[in-house]
Amino acid sequence: MDCIFCKIIEGEIPSYTVYEDEIVKVFLDVNPDSNGHLLIIPKKHILDINEMDANTWTHMLEITKKMRKLLETKLQIDGLTLIQNNGMIQEVKHFHLHLKPFYRDPQTILPVEDIYEKITH
Ligand code: AMP
Ligand code: ZN
Repeated sequence: MDCIFCKIIEGEIPSYTVYEDEIVKVFLDVNPDSNGHLLIIPKKHILDINEMDANTWTHMLEITKKMRKLLETKLQIDGLTLIQNNGMIQEVKHFHLHLKPFYRDPQTILPVEDIYEKITH
């Protein structure tokens, strides 16, 4: 299947992965809206919210809370917005939850590799 996120899961395309387990993978968005913009994806190919199952969704909720703590600790974020697109506004056709950090003070968008260093060290 020609799915960019399945290729990321298989390791065929590199990603700045900050967390993974048997159910999900979490990596930095290559075109971030703010520093630390993360995507949480299920490892099985799920198209969108209609195909999402309760077990995977519950697990994604737990990992979202975990990632919020990580972003608070490593990047000192002041808020977090969750977004999940379906239909025409979904660019990548593999389910993904956006975690977009909010900062009280204006921030310069830093290179993704610099943010990756901050989060993983
Ligand atoms: P959406 O409009 O919700 O489908 O957004 C897809 C998101 O995936 C966008 O924010 C892209 O910047 C992001 N994206 C696309 N390709 C990659 C990639 N190879 N690695 C990380 N993020 C990506
Ligand atoms: Zn896929």
